[in-house]
Amino acid sequence: KETVPSGKEVKKETKLGMTVKKNENFGDWYSEVVVKSGMIEYYDVSGCYILRPWSYAIWEVLKDFFDAEIKKLGIQNSYFPLFVSEQALTKEKDHIEGFAPEVAWVTKSGNTELEVPIAIRPTSETVMYPVFAKWIRGHRDLPLRLNQWCNVVRWEFKHPTPFIRSREFLWQEGHTAFATKEEADEEVKIVLELYRKIYEEYLAVPVVKGIKSEVEKFAGGLYTTTVEAFIPNTGRGIQGATSHCLGQNFSKMFEIFFEDDKGERSLVWQNSWAFTTRVIGVMVMIHGDDKGLVLPPKVATVQVVIIPVPYKNVDFNQMLDACNEVSQKLESAGLRVKQDTRDNYPPGWKYSDWELKGVPLRIEIGPKDIENKQVRMVRRDNFEKEDVPLEKVAQRAADLLDEIQANLFKKAKEVRDLCIKKVFTWEDFIEALNDKKMVLAPWCDDVEVEEDVKARTKGDTGAAKTLCMPFEQPDLPDGTVCFASGKPAKRWALWGRSY
Ligand code: AMP
Repeated sequence: KETVPSGKEVKKETKLGMTVKKNENFGDWYSEVVVKSGMIEYYDVSGCYILRPWSYAIWEVLKDFFDAEIKKLGIQNSYFPLFVSEQALTKEKDHIEGFAPEVAWVTKSGNTELEVPIAIRPTSETVMYPVFAKWIRGHRDLPLRLNQWCNVVRWEFKHPTPFIRSREFLWQEGHTAFATKEEADEEVKIVLELYRKIYEEYLAVPVVKGIKSEVEKFAGGLYTTTVEAFIPNTGRGIQGATSHCLGQNFSKMFEIFFEDDKGERSLVWQNSWAFTTRVIGVMVMIHGDDKGLVLPPKVATVQVVIIPVPYKNVDFNQMLDACNEVSQKLESAGLRVKQDTRDNYPPGWKYSDWELKGVPLRIEIGPKDIENKQVRMVRRDNFEKEDVPLEKVAQRAADLLDEIQANLFKKAKEVRDLCIKKVFTWEDFIEALNDKKMVLAPWCDDVEVEEDVKARTKGDTGAAKTLCMPFEQPDLPDGTVCFASGKPAKRWALWGRSY
């Protein structure tokens, strides 16, 4: 039994915290942490999840960042409908081949069968481009650069996982049209860099930037660039976000022409790019531990939690005043602060609760601290404690949050770097894969060879595929051969099992 601030004695509640260890059963650990931290509530339609305020607020931070950045580039927000006609959806052959198995259809209204079923967007190329053809006439209508924040539905057959692979998810999708390929290429790169920032600078998750193979590129596109993350516990790569150059494939099918300044008619060059609520899941998987979530300060809804630590015979109101004072100092410094003054829980219980929720920094204020004009700060990332004089709390808290942010990234990058294995031969490739690594190997870049590698590695844990051809390529000396086919290697590719 413990004493709570109201003076009552309460029984310790059990089973509140995590019961599964991250290293022992990663899948169960993940399901437990997203629910117990208050991020997710399960729902009775498989593959759909409720995003509670604790996770939605993270989405909003990323949304605010990205939205402001694309507006600086001159990209405007708009909204297109959720439904697509079959005629539009099936217009681009490769595109529909890629998406057909996952498209959800509305076939009935009430009891009446619809004359023509309508599809729910899995992505909006085919929703937007029929009207792009109408809006774009001359070179003065270009570039056309639109974005929308919305939901999409992909009726995935792979095992659904909250955030990582859901049947409905939130995303932004950018859709742009240019007069020249150079302009389109330039935008692809700029947007990919914003995605890198979301992962590395906000979520503290290291990613590899690169280009997808022909097999893995976006259905119907010209080329796909990606930021690839890696989950060490499962040894799987995960496609973090993608920035596609669609080339002129869609403009051909949807007849999106413009007249250039010489009066000649040409097809526009197009891009599309997206990141989804998946980013939150990747962050949870990378930083979480056996006590629960670990949130990087830049995205944490609450960056600092203040907890009064009462003792018998100490005036609780005096403690509350001290908490208020500290809270105000932190808020004035622009930090996101919460005071946990609930009087029916003991401090130890509250510590565990906020650790479970991943709050980066905890401030404890007890009678001794008040006497000494100080507070105790405890970091969530490494549990280091320090006593900080009252007049320095705001500065020290801000500095610690920066340190925590940097430390989370540094630790994650060290682990990730150890997971990249460079190999030259098939035997070493298989060994590295079985050792849950990503494998960097010289490759001939043949579609058949990638299909062959997939076939040869197909096992219970899923086949290996190319994650990307990293932009940063190691030296490839003349005469280097492909690890899988023995043909001359054209470039280094990063391979792995993936989500
Ligand atoms: P795509 O339009 O296929 O390029 O998808 C854009 C991004 O969405 C991918 O790079 C993934 O990061 C993410 N994504 C794809 N499928 C899902 C899903 N089922 N749930 C959440 N995110 C997804």
